Amino acid sequence: MAILTLHPGKEKSLLRRHPWIFSGAVAQFEGRARPGDTVDVVSTEGRPLARAAWSPASQIRARVWSFDAEENIDHAFFKRRVAAAVVRRAVLPELAGQQGLRLIHAESDGLPGIIADRYGDTVVLQLSTVGAEKWRGAIADSLLKATGCARIYERSDLDLRGLEGLEPVTGWIHGAASDDALVIEENGVQMEVDIVGGHKTGFYLDQRDNRRRVAEIARDRRVLNCFCYTGGFSLQALAGGAREVVSLDSSGPALATARRNLALNPQLDATRAIWLEADVFGELRSLRAAGERYELIILDPPKFAHTAAQAERAARAYKDINLLGLQLLAPGGLLMSYSCSGGIGAELFRKIVAGAALDAGRNARIVQQLHGAADHPVDLAFPEGEYLKGLLLQVD
Ligand code: SAH
Repeated sequence: MAILTLHPGKEKSLLRRHPWIFSGAVAQFEGRARPGDTVDVVSTEGRPLARAAWSPASQIRARVWSFDAEENIDHAFFKRRVAAAVVRRAVLPELAGQQGLRLIHAESDGLPGIIADRYGDTVVLQLSTVGAEKWRGAIADSLLKATGCARIYERSDLDLRGLEGLEPVTGWIHGAASDDALVIEENGVQMEVDIVGGHKTGFYLDQRDNRRRVAEIARDRRVLNCFCYTGGFSLQALAGGAREVVSLDSSGPALATARRNLALNPQLDATRAIWLEADVFGELRSLRAAGERYELIILDPPKFAHTAAQAERAARAYKDINLLGLQLLAPGGLLMSYSCSGGIGAELFRKIVAGAALDAGRNARIVQQLHGAADHPVDLAFPEGEYLKGLLLQVD
């Protein structure tokens, strides 16, 4: 096995169990390794630290599979790690029995580069690194065994793969498509999941708890759901008894799915739903100019910052929509606002929203801090895993 030796002091983050080794930390590389091969990581003094997947094309030059420097990285390793991730969720009452569930959350489950989401009897697998790519067969086999699912579809089509020198890969690894649309129940509402063409693996499972929260607070309110995608928050607002729900998204296909989702739920009053295909930045300005007011506004935008370097521009975009959202709130109204940008930390996000409230001339207080659901855990040693943060605010 090849040996990766670190520069002096660069072992510190590994000793704190952070799983990334950046190119600048690598002093020496001895032996032969192909991209994705497992390498031994040692300190300058030669102290064994970890076994990691070698990613020569990426700035993150290696990602740790195991901090036990003697653990074999083989089929049995993935079987153990995958089974542990599945059990970790099965023992949490709010997750047990969920039809839509994230089974593997990459680094936070000790499996860098690997995402697996379950929708009913189908698992959607997303591999983003050469290390993960090398073990596709073992990972898929372990998922089938640990879940008893019949089908695995691969959605390895993230831009991120380019940084690893990988092409997109999509298609069935096990089983085949069925003619029926894939539908899951979430918080009592039926939702169609487009695993082939939808965002991420088809659905934003991380917002499950926050969507339920919307059902709790929407009663009798006039609701504006911005960046509604397939209507997750909108349908929960209707389920919670909202008076009217206006939903905005720039994607026609997402809105078409949202309308189908509403039709899948005849218990909801469809006459209270309005769907608008529009750019949120422009539409919020139009609504403000028209003097519209809402009693609950949800802002769940896409990732504005993909890297820390883009944080500044992203901060301006977050401030802009939050400012507009706050201006559109009726007295006593609620704003539920999110950022899913890794480069924008919870503290910074709060400052951005505070700045928006100041400029909007609205007093706002935090009713609740919001996070991803428990199937998107954050390993204490890997704060980067905490990408989703939100605030529920009440204005005067
Ligand atoms: N809240 C959703 C997920 C939102 S994903 C849920 O719970 O499922 C972000 C959405 O924002 C996508 O559907 C995308 O089409 C939309 N979007 C991105 N930029 C936009 C813009 N400028 N205006 C309107 N919608 C936009």
